Amino acid sequence: MFASKKYVDETLKKYNLVANKALGQNFLVEQDIALEIVDNANIDKDTFVIEIGPGLGALSEIIVDRCAYLKAFEIDANMARILNESIKNDNFEVINIDFLKVDLDNLINSIKHKKIVVISNLPYYITSKLLNKLLINDYRINTIVAMMQKEVGKKIYSPNKKDINQLSAILSYQYYVSIVKYVGKNSYLPRPEIDSIVLKFEKVSSKYDVSFEKLILLTNYIYATRRKTVYNNLKPLFNNQEKLIECLKMCNIDTNMHIEQLNMDNIVDLCKYI
Ligand code: SAM
Repeated sequence: MFASKKYVDETLKKYNLVANKALGQNFLVEQDIALEIVDNANIDKDTFVIEIGPGLGALSEIIVDRCAYLKAFEIDANMARILNESIKNDNFEVINIDFLKVDLDNLINSIKHKKIVVISNLPYYITSKLLNKLLINDYRINTIVAMMQKEVGKKIYSPNKKDINQLSAILSYQYYVSIVKYVGKNSYLPRPEIDSIVLKFEKVSSKYDVSFEKLILLTNYIYATRRKTVYNNLKPLFNNQEKLIECLKMCNIDTNMHIEQLNMDNIVDLCKYI
């Protein structure tokens, strides 16, 4: 049982290591919570699982018995070495690499399994970068289950107008998002300063009849800078400002409309007219 205080304490001691704060190493030490997270990830014997930051294997140990294959990406060579010694299953491999540097397009295209699931207790210091890498793309990933800082997760799940960014604006295009559970700071070792939340992102077929590529291109401009109007942010896309004004008019968007007032329907309209 790797998700326990005893295992984490003993293993770090055995290898003469301390948790690396700079790498966001807060290890999950509650087996019930580890089980609940994996239970929610829709993993079965046809599933290829990608795990980001397996650490000492709190989740990996459970996943590996339930999936077709588990490929874990861990930036810390010590953790990768320990995992290689502690999990010997044929359907498991751990790659010692920074996941931000992984060519995800290539990885996903090389997977022949029916289902792909991504699971992670995300390192706090790069949560947004990792979520953007996974979610602002149209990958063949069926489910993503990710644990993150509570405040970050809540902003993604139900953003206030001032928190809206490209990710929260377009998420509903292809994902159904739900809260799996809240996790208190005492469930980790070392104890972080903030509580966590586990979110589940399930891929759905889009109800919007615009292409994902166009949606990304357009929202790259719309959300490029905060505190600006839709009109100002879209200016670089147009040589002819009259055309932009005409286009906004067709979409019932006032030239003074601020980006935080846009909803998904407005964005879809813009995709159609631009
Ligand atoms: N999954 C383990 C658990 O639940 O106990 C560890 C979670 S810990 C919050 C985050 C893990 O991500 C650490 O093992 C850390 O070394 C690893 N990590 C940090 N940055 C990473 C990166 N860029 N790519 C891959 N792994 C990373």
